[in-house]
Amino acid sequence: MLTDPISLVKEPVRRQKVYTLPRIDYDIKVNQNENPYDLPDAVKHEILAALGDREWNRYPRLGSGELRGKIAGALGRTPEEVMVGNGSNEVLLAVMNALLQPGRKLVTIEPTFTLYKHYGEILGAEVITVPLSNEFDFQIDLLKRAVAKLDATLTILCSPNNPTGSVIREEDLRELLEATAGYILVDEAYLDFSDQDFLPLLEVYPNLILTRTFSKAFAFAFGRFGYGIARPELVEEIYKVLLPYNLGGFTEVAAGILLRQRARMQPAIDRIIGQRDWLYGELKNLLELEVYPSQANFLLIKPSCDSNWLYQQFLDRRILLRDVSYYPGLGNHLRITVGTEGENRQVIRHLTDLLSENGRPIEN
Ligand code: PMP
Repeated sequence: MLTDPISLVKEPVRRQKVYTLPRIDYDIKVNQNENPYDLPDAVKHEILAALGDREWNRYPRLGSGELRGKIAGALGRTPEEVMVGNGSNEVLLAVMNALLQPGRKLVTIEPTFTLYKHYGEILGAEVITVPLSNEFDFQIDLLKRAVAKLDATLTILCSPNNPTGSVIREEDLRELLEATAGYILVDEAYLDFSDQDFLPLLEVYPNLILTRTFSKAFAFAFGRFGYGIARPELVEEIYKVLLPYNLGGFTEVAAGILLRQRARMQPAIDRIIGQRDWLYGELKNLLELEVYPSQANFLLIKPSCDSNWLYQQFLDRRILLRDVSYYPGLGNHLRITVGTEGENRQVIRHLTDLLSENGRPIEN
């Protein structure tokens, strides 16, 4: 009679691993693609003052209408086209939840952000991955064939792609949108570090969904805010999936202020872009590694020595990089988030020392 109740957990859930990161003390944290510059004090104080004026005993307004209106206004869209969430992850999950079920197909690329496959499998969908090229470019012909032939309900692309930094070209995205009867979601978490602009495509393609986040360029990872943009008919359906009051009132108030203060964040974003390009140049000069062009706030490298050894050496120096060597197609690769000028100089100094003096050959 007594069976272990844990066996009741759905098989696709039991097969997954919990999303986790090592909890390690560090001096330099370049492992999570965060903005290395915190928000200006004046902006924080404005948020705190606005929160103090609210009634905390009351629920926020259902449907986050005020904030959706502000985002729509900033983008030149309508509030009915905007959906908001506790990080863009929540919006992503809601979209997947509304569209995927056993018997349906999710197409995505490889390597990319691991959550798409994770949730696709939990929802019981068949997940088909299309590899990027050896240089991590989107292979548009392969993708086109996959979305058309496989009758994909949803295709998720990440552009700029995490963890490669590569982007899909607009004409390629257009071709894909035309090649499929399914939805195409472009995760634009790193949009602000690139010159990509797919918003006008929403006018033309009813099957396009964009998601964005305040966790990167907006320096608000702590607050957890992200949003999606799609046709109103779809957004209405997604709101049946999102829980009532999914966005906390604190986050809603803060996000509204951050949106208005966007210009104050621009100098930090410009510095990050400048530093990314500086870092890329420095890394390119190092003979003992490969580095790939990036339109995001991170760079992917492949050292000629054992990446695990290099990762550990950095940890010993209290610098936290991201080990991405377990991603499909990324054996021996590491990802480095663009930090402050000082942090980036230190990363380059240690890399130069470690690679030239102590670099060990790869062990297998
Ligand atoms: N998409 C991508 C590609 C990401 O890299 C991340 C964060 N690592 C997210 C979404 C999640 O962002 P959020 O903090 O908005 O949930």
